Amino acid sequence: MKICRFDDNRLGIVEGPVVRDVSAALECLPRLAYPQPRYDALIANLTQLRERIESVAPYARTRPLADVRLLSPIANPGKIIAAPVNYTKHLEEARAQPQIHHDSQVAEIQRIGLFLKANSSLVGPAEGIALQHPDRRNDHEAEVVVVIGKSGRNIGRAEASDYIAGYCIGLDMTVRGPEERSLRKSIDSYSVLGPWLVTADEIADSANLDFWLTVNDEPRQKANTRDLIIGIPELIEFASSFYTLHPGDVIFTGTPEGVGPVLPGDRIVVELQGVGRMEVAVRSE
Ligand code: MN
Repeated sequence: MKICRFDDNRLGIVEGPVVRDVSAALECLPRLAYPQPRYDALIANLTQLRERIESVAPYARTRPLADVRLLSPIANPGKIIAAPVNYTKHLEEARAQPQIHHDSQVAEIQRIGLFLKANSSLVGPAEGIALQHPDRRNDHEAEVVVVIGKSGRNIGRAEASDYIAGYCIGLDMTVRGPEERSLRKSIDSYSVLGPWLVTADEIADSANLDFWLTVNDEPRQKANTRDLIIGIPELIEFASSFYTLHPGDVIFTGTPEGVGPVLPGDRIVVELQGVGRMEVAVRSE
């Protein structure tokens, strides 16, 4: 199932060129009181929600996909975890280009581990990217994102697939510079998630997915998840050995080679096999 959020927090399922408005299914989610839980309520209740969606979908009105404003499919992730330099060729390009590494050593992911992006940086594709620090290089990083489906810690790689709710496309936008990654990658709108959540049952093999990115139709990045240095099950094992993972936590799995700058007015398109196509506009802040 391809589950999207759109317009003013409506819920939809994507069927080819149309969105079926299944917002009525949201009524099955529990009413939350203060303090709010630190996980995403929609993902935590995904099994019941899917049943409700199936029952309301035949009566739901449809809208052309092209006419809706797509929001982040995960509204309230407890945390946004990200993997740095997780493709060998990107490691090589980062070490070769001073504008990327800024005299800081670019180490292998096995040594530097993971980092966190601020939740306040999260947007959906229709909200676009507002560039800050225009005097510095602002880069696109296309990434496959895995969405955690249930709570767990010390999850072994062999059982990791039981903890996956689904997949999205991510843009880990980055201002280059000498500061820590989590500062430079946590600017408002620098974590784009979309275009929808594809539930795990639709992805037969997440270790063999093609994806690519263009800027104004110019090809920039093209890769396959088989080239990940640390694969998705191992990332879940690694992350959960430090943090308890909760429903709706997202893991940006790392970007391949071909990162490059964007400017106001640019249009980024990312496509991921089995998921779909995400289009994002870049503007100045
Ligand atoms: Mn990245």
